[in-house]
Amino acid sequence: VEEGERADWLARALGRSGILPQQEAEHAIRDGRVRVEDRVEREPFAPVRPGMTVFVEGQAHRLESPLHVLMFHKPEGVIVAGTDPEGQGTVFERLRAVLPPELRNFEWYAVGRLDRDTTGLLLFTNDERVVQHGTSPAKHLPKRYVAQVAGRPSEEALTRLQEGLVLEDGPTRPAGARLLAPECVELVLTEGRHHQVKRMLAAVGHPVRTLHRQAVGSVLLDVPVGSWRPLRPEEISEGL
Ligand code: URA
Repeated sequence: VEEGERADWLARALGRSGILPQQEAEHAIRDGRVRVEDRVEREPFAPVRPGMTVFVEGQAHRLESPLHVLMFHKPEGVIVAGTDPEGQGTVFERLRAVLPPELRNFEWYAVGRLDRDTTGLLLFTNDERVVQHGTSPAKHLPKRYVAQVAGRPSEEALTRLQEGLVLEDGPTRPAGARLLAPECVELVLTEGRHHQVKRMLAAVGHPVRTLHRQAVGSVLLDVPVGSWRPLRPEEISEGL
């Protein structure tokens, strides 16, 4: 994924530049609090280009859309969604709470999803193109999971996981599957269907007790739970 210069509209460009979250930007623009170059702009959809200078309440900012990709170690119990009907909190709230102020105002998109009770590596980006790339079924980006399961899977069960088995939404692609400990399986999938790991392990008779994601592509989780770090440029260019 490469950083690109894109024509854009004002409210979204403010969000992409990390100046104001997009919705707040729309209000600020309509309220007359945003100037583009030398005039007040009240139209959130006004076209803008990278490099333009905007003033928000008198403070100058340059419109630019730096590409950010972050890893976050998702804790158990939080949901990967905009709002949480159960009130335990969203992963977006958790991420924002630990980001420094200069990164807090970006629009963050999760690259794929993890279940509420799943822990581990979740990538976030401010660029939807990374989301499309990272979640595209055609890319077959490998995702590595470690599952604690009920019972000890046999060689035969591992072979079924490796060769592919038929779930209610169709056959699974060949996968990596090995035993790490008597009741602990590593599974490497190159697709990401809803609850796929849980459904595959249940299908071979070993329901998942806990699930953790260790890696996506060549990006390995290496921060403590609840923490984040930016990906290095080579992790973005080679790993995703
Ligand atoms: N597979 C699952 O079943 N759950 C996840 O969170 C991720 C993959």
